[in-house]
Amino acid sequence: MNTVQTSSNRKVAVVTGASSGIGEATARTLAAQGYDVVIGARRLDRLTAVADEIGGRAIPLDVTDDESVAAFCAHLDRVDILVNNAGGARGLATVAQADLEDWRWMWETNVMGTVRMTRALLPALEASGDGLIVTITSIAAIEPYDNGSGYTAAKHAQGVMHRTLRFELLGKPIRLTEIQPGMVETEFSLVRFDGDAQRAASVYEGLTPLTADDIAEVIGFVASRPPHVNLDTILIKPRDQASARRNIKNP
Ligand code: NAP
Repeated sequence: MNTVQTSSNRKVAVVTGASSGIGEATARTLAAQGYDVVIGARRLDRLTAVADEIGGRAIPLDVTDDESVAAFCAHLDRVDILVNNAGGARGLATVAQADLEDWRWMWETNVMGTVRMTRALLPALEASGDGLIVTITSIAAIEPYDNGSGYTAAKHAQGVMHRTLRFELLGKPIRLTEIQPGMVETEFSLVRFDGDAQRAASVYEGLTPLTADDIAEVIGFVASRPPHVNLDTILIKPRDQASARRNIKNP
């Protein structure tokens, strides 16, 4: 793995949603590669603990809030990498029984949050001369599943926004990578099931899911490619999962 320069001129990597799961693991990986890592999330205690461990900077961030995004970005005078990771799912329900509050949460966090952060940091990414935007969408960004429409619709929208940018930024010094994970054992299901730990654990029982580190390692690989190499889309599933709807428990 390439190591970026470690002088006072260090490259800056911003990771949203780094207080747990994939974001936290990505922050660790990029810090180990030598990046000056700036992390944001709402749970500042956990964020600060991660930043202290990796020698990074923790700044409070709520991607659903314009003012919070503006205050976060005001701390940054250089940005080389933006990892749009903050997101998640709330609930499982048919369209007929859709909970509109859950839908709003998922759209505000996954879609509008990614738009807010990307729009705010595009000038700095371009000015870096070799910018990289990594957006964590999901297998749910390419495949619908029963009772998942609020999340799959939001992830499809987030993915299309990211893919549109690939066209809009053609000719500018910014690479774009969409990571589409399948099942990763993080706090994702705990959030989806509103803190029900037993229900969350049952999602991963009877199969071997991916870990947050499995995803972070791939992001580290993406970041360490030379500027002319753009890994556009990466779908990562555990061996035990064939699609969003089919896995060894549900063949
Ligand atoms: P996680 O452990 O629940 O992490 C989610 C992170 O997002 C947390 O750090 C959380 O921090 C942050 N976040 C949530 N709302 C936020 C907001 N309004 N502002 C700022 N940060 C916010 O779950 P994860 O699996 O690592 O999820 C990371 C990304 O991967 C998400 O986009 C998710 O949709 C995607 N993904 C996950 C899976 C999976 O199976 N786990 C599969 C495909 C895609 P705070 O609560 O402290 O703000």
